[in-house]
This record gives sequence, structure tokens and C-alpha cells, in this order.
Amino acid sequence: MLTHILGFPSIGKQRELKQALESFWQNKLSAESLLEISAKLKKHHWRIQKDAGLDYVTIGDFSLYDRMLDMTCMLGAIPPRFIPCLDDRPLGRYFSLARGDGWRNIPALEMTKWFDTNYHYLVPEIDAGGLWVAGEHPMAEDTKRAKELGFSPKPALIGPFTWLTLAKARSGVLKWSRLKEVVPVYEKLLARLAPHCDCIQIEEPVLCTEFLPSKAARQFHDVYALLNAACGGKKLMLTTYFGPLARNLELAVASGCAILHIDMVRGREQLGAVLAVLPGDMALSLGIVDGRNIWKSDYAKALSLVEQAVSEIGGERVLLGSSCSLLHCPVDAAEEKALPEHIRNRMAFAVQKCAELATLRDIHESGGNHAALAENMAILRTATVHPDSHIKAVRQRSASVTSAHLARQSAYSKRRAAQTWLNLPLLPTTTIGSFPQTAAIRKARLDYRKGGMTDADYIAAIKNEIKDCIERQEKLGLDVLVHGEAERNDMVEYFGQQLGGFCFTRNGWVQSYGSRCVKPPVIYGDVYRKRPMTVDWILYAQSLTQKPVKGMLTGPVTMLCWSFARDDMERSDVCKQIALAIRDEVQDLERAGIRIIQIDEAALREGMPLTRFEAETYLQWAVDAFRLASSGVEDSTQIHTHMCYSEFNAILPWIAKMDADVISIESSRSGMKLLDAFTEFHYQAEIGPGVYDIHSPRIPTVEEMVELLRKALGHIPKERLWVNPDCGLKTRQWEEAYPALGNMVAAVLRVRAYSAQSSK
Ligand code: GLN
Ligand code: ZN
Repeated sequence: MLTHILGFPSIGKQRELKQALESFWQNKLSAESLLEISAKLKKHHWRIQKDAGLDYVTIGDFSLYDRMLDMTCMLGAIPPRFIPCLDDRPLGRYFSLARGDGWRNIPALEMTKWFDTNYHYLVPEIDAGGLWVAGEHPMAEDTKRAKELGFSPKPALIGPFTWLTLAKARSGVLKWSRLKEVVPVYEKLLARLAPHCDCIQIEEPVLCTEFLPSKAARQFHDVYALLNAACGGKKLMLTTYFGPLARNLELAVASGCAILHIDMVRGREQLGAVLAVLPGDMALSLGIVDGRNIWKSDYAKALSLVEQAVSEIGGERVLLGSSCSLLHCPVDAAEEKALPEHIRNRMAFAVQKCAELATLRDIHESGGNHAALAENMAILRTATVHPDSHIKAVRQRSASVTSAHLARQSAYSKRRAAQTWLNLPLLPTTTIGSFPQTAAIRKARLDYRKGGMTDADYIAAIKNEIKDCIERQEKLGLDVLVHGEAERNDMVEYFGQQLGGFCFTRNGWVQSYGSRCVKPPVIYGDVYRKRPMTVDWILYAQSLTQKPVKGMLTGPVTMLCWSFARDDMERSDVCKQIALAIRDEVQDLERAGIRIIQIDEAALREGMPLTRFEAETYLQWAVDAFRLASSGVEDSTQIHTHMCYSEFNAILPWIAKMDADVISIESSRSGMKLLDAFTEFHYQAEIGPGVYDIHSPRIPTVEEMVELLRKALGHIPKERLWVNPDCGLKTRQWEEAYPALGNMVAAVLRVRAYSAQSSK
């Protein structure tokens, strides 16, 4: 029974790749050295796989920036605006695509989330006049090199249907018409790889979604016939992940590939259906080790799937693999020595997951009589009996939630009347919460964390920042103020650090895009609030001003989506526990006199699963969690929420069901296009479409914001329109944020005067 993983994280145990990339970009490292460091990392990752006892080592999973970009380069699908970069040195050209060319003023390829993960890929662009010169990629060289070094390489490519589905076509360009140009490049590439390996992984995660257009699907069979032929007798592994194959199962089994890989974590239920239709000459790779979490596998559970498959198709036709690439989990749990043993014992990062696969094979081959199985069961048992895993009071409270806890006292129309006491002007101005995180703030937080600052000094330093922030907002003339979030390093971590059931790794970095990594908090036990988390800061801010200060919280869904959640409990149940903790904070804020409270759900959209049915289930519990967190207040208290994206036409009814009084959303980059959706759907509450893009240092002019507000007023009645930037300002400098907000307020004053006149 062969074993393999779909990919190993590129970034390195100590984030070596990050450091190397950033030094290279700053001209402190030569191209040769960067490539040398990469070569070393790759070899090290192959060694880890081989030493763990895996049969294949994966090639082509390593990328200097992003694998979709690598595929785009291999295909030579370079958008015309990059033509001036073509004569640059190869690395310079590559990074121009990834990061833009500031010199020549060429914007980078767009970046977006890879399916429902937190990883971002660079979006291919299909242009009418696009260049299609097949580029090079070190994959063939690497495959050869790995073989020479005594490894058994399995190169991995993103398949043509996934690549094209995710590509963005310029208007008027029919992207699927380019399939006939893409396929020959794949054929050539496969033919180059085949002599140096016996198996090639071709990834089509799009088969696990509903995105593949039926016109394209009709060509699937023929295209794969060509690709298989190009492999000259070597095995092609059609690789799917992130969900069950569902309606594309037939396509997959008719692909003519030698092996089909399926996700047994996110698509556990599909096994029976796949086995029933799997052709006799197709082997099945079971993705049984979760590539997207940090926990040890439940061996018994995994083995029952293996046995089911073996009993139907025989052991020679079964392979064991990771559910998806291990890109989505950190590198090595052995680094986490500071965590309590009962947590550390349960953890498996990429290195450990490789070993798990080999162990699962060994257990299976031993007929189930293996010490590792008993050991695994014992470890998982200790976890479940640990007191933090199951706190009676938390469970009871969660179980006693009824629909009454999910609803405000009155419907929105009545609440609106109850909130007029806030006395806000027409088109109230506000911000999304955070203000520039200055060097002074970061230094204070760091000193404090390292023990170089007393509690009292730290509190004084943060209060100073809050005071400064309130003064600036007063000077700007904003209507609803915020405290500025100076005490928060990160909107999830800040709360996680104060909640029971969360812990933090020392080195659990995961690549988010390029050289950027995140270190998600870990939810290992039942979640509960120990004490108020934000009340003192907000109250202090409120004590400095007559204007209302908005309380600022992170919502339960976002906390869940941006953490590694425990896997011994449903996500919806974990979310409910977090929601109850936030609910307590909301009520404490209200009791303390804070009557506008914002609960950010920045991640609600991205947490959505890929198929319609699963998405519905998710949205149901996600919206319930928000309502549970937010609805324990009086009608006269105003609940805001904030979302960081604009593509939510499809989920607008669910956004409405969240039943917030005010919602702020990203929209300036789309020129307020999303407002159409709000008119069509007839959203009844108040809306603050962001009037300027905080992701750019550019200071928007008064005129352009007046223009956007006019546009917004064409869709939203003036009584329901709020004015705010797109998102939090923490990544900006005051030199940018202050004048930008000044212009925003000036724009509002102009529009208010105009509206007052026109209503006379
Ligand atoms: N309140 C947070 C901030 O202003 C929201 C950030 C976000 O939406 N990602 O930074
Ligand atoms: Zn945002």
C-alpha cells in the first residue's frame, strides 16, 4: 500500500523561506542565494517524507510565492501588461507578476482565497492578446534531481480545469476557448516529467465544487485522454480535495487516470459511492490524514475507511495520502515544547502527519495488531477526559440555548425608533475600529509581553494611545468614535488570549500568501469567558468624550474561522460556545453604558463550504451564532457588524438574517457595485458601504467620496446610510489616515448640505 502526501509546506520550520524572500526583495540577498536556500529546503522536505516512511516525495509543491502563479508561468499565460518585464531576469519577472512592478507602475496579479481556506493564490488572467509562450519551471529539473538523490518523486501540477475555472477573463474574452491552447502545454510538460517518475499528481479540486461550467465539463473526458496519453504509460493521479466529488464523480471515474485521490476528511461520506463506480483499472488514494488541522488522526476511524476500501477493491489498489496539501498546517509540532502535555500530545503538524500515514499503513498491514494503534487510542482518550475538554457548566449553558436567545426583543423597525435617542446626524460618520498601530504601540506591547513593563505602565501607555486617538477623532469631527484597538495585536488573538479553551503555539506558522504567514490560535477545549475583556478600555475612551464610543468585538464565526478548532466536536458547537462568551461581553458593555456595539464578522463569507447544501447548513449555524452573541441587548442599543468583502450577493438574505442594526462593508474598490444587490434584495437596516480603500496608502479626495456617496444614495435612502472607510486603519500611518478621514468628513458635510437643500 503506497503512501504519500499531496504537498509539504514551503515556508520552512523557522520560516526560512520568508526570511530569504524578504531579504531578496530588499536586495540584501542575491538570486543565487535565494535559489540555494530554496533548493536546500526542498531537499530537506523530501528527506522528511522519505524518513517518515512515505513511498513518494512530492515535487512542485514548493513555490517561491504561489503554486497557481507557478502554473500560470509554466503555461506562459502572461497578461500583456507584463510584457515590459519579459526581458528581466527570471526571478524579477516572476515577482513582478506576484507583487507588481512599482518602477514601471504595473499592478500585480489579483490575489484571492484558495477555495475555502485562508491561503491566497494569484488569479490567472485570460486576455484577448495574452502571451502564451510556454515558460519554464524548475519542476522537471527538481524531479530529476530528486530521483538522482534516491527519492521516488511524484511531481504535482494544478490541473487545466481548475486553473481555467479560477482564471479571470477580461470582458469579452471567452476563457474556455483557450482550453485548446492550454492542453498542449500540459501534454508537453507531462511528457517531460514522465521519464523521471512513475506517478504524476494532477489536481482538480474544482471537481469538488459547483464551479465547473457544464460546457467545460463536457470536454473533461477528451482532455484527460490526451493528458493520460502524454504520460507514456506512467500513472496520472487525478487529485481532488476540499470536499466530496458529488456531482462530478462520474467525470472523475471516467477520466482514464490510473489513480483517483479523494478527500476522506471533508468527503468522508463519499467512499461508498466512489467504490461503487470505480473502474477495475483505477486505484484509489484515500486522503485520510487531515491536511487542514493540527491534530493527530483518529487511527481507528481512519483505518475503518481503509478496510472498507480494501475489502471492496483489494489492498494493491489502495493508496494512503493526506486529505489535501499540508500547506495548510504548520511544519513541526516538536517545536511546541511550552504547551501543556495533554495538548502537545494530541498535536500533529506536517512532519508528524507524514509519519502518521506511514504508521497507518503499518497498522493496516499488521492486521490491526500494532502498538501504535493502542497508543493513539490512549492519547485521544486522555484528551477527552481532560477537564478542559468538557466543562459541565459550559455544556449545560450551550444546551439550554433556545430560539429566544437568538432574537432581539423587537423587530428592526421598532428598534430603529428605540435608537433615535442616540441623536445621530444624517449620514453618521464612523470608522471600522482600529487606528494606526504606531511603532510606539507595538513597542509597548512587545516590552510588556517580554516582561520589561509593569501592568500599570502598560495600561498607562495604552490609555495614552486611546486618549490621543479620541482627541484626533474629535478634531476630525467624526460622529461615532472608537477607542482604536491599540491593545490588540490581532482581532482574534486578543480575545483568544483571554478566553478559556484557547492556547497559542510558539511556532505554528502557516503561509497565507507569498512570504506572509499567520499563526492561528488553537481551540483545544471548551470555550468560556473568564472576565470582561474590553470593557475597561472602552469605558476609558467613553470617559474622554461626549460623543458615543462604539464597543468593538470580534464575532464568533470569525474567531472560529481564523483559529485551528478542536476536531472532537462539531464546528457549530464550538462556535456556539464562543458566541455565548461574546454575548456576555456585549451585555457587560451595555450595562456599563456603551450603547453602540460592533461585532466584526470579517470571515463569515470565507468560512462558507463549497457546495450549496453544505453552505446552507453552515450559514444557518453561523448566523445563529452571530445572533446569539448580539441579541441579548435592549432595543435601544445599536448593534453593528462589519464584513471585509464585497462578493455577497448570494448570501445577502443571510446577512439580513443576522439582524444587525447597522452593517459596514467593503465596496469602494468595486465602485459601490454591490449596492445593486442591496436594492434588489430590499435590505431594511442601515448600511455603511466603505467610501475609501484602506488597503492603499492613497489619500482619497473629497470629490471622489462625494461621488461615491451620491452613488450610494441612489440605492440607499439617506436615513439609512452610514459613512465609513472600507476596513480598519491599523495598517496605515496617521499621515495617511488623518487626512483621508478629514476628506471623508468634508465629503459628508457637503452631501448633507445638498440633501438638506434638496429635501426643502
Ligand atoms: N475592527 C477591526 C479593525 O478595525 C476589523 C478588522 C477586519 O475587518 N478585518 O481592524
Ligand atoms: Zn474589514
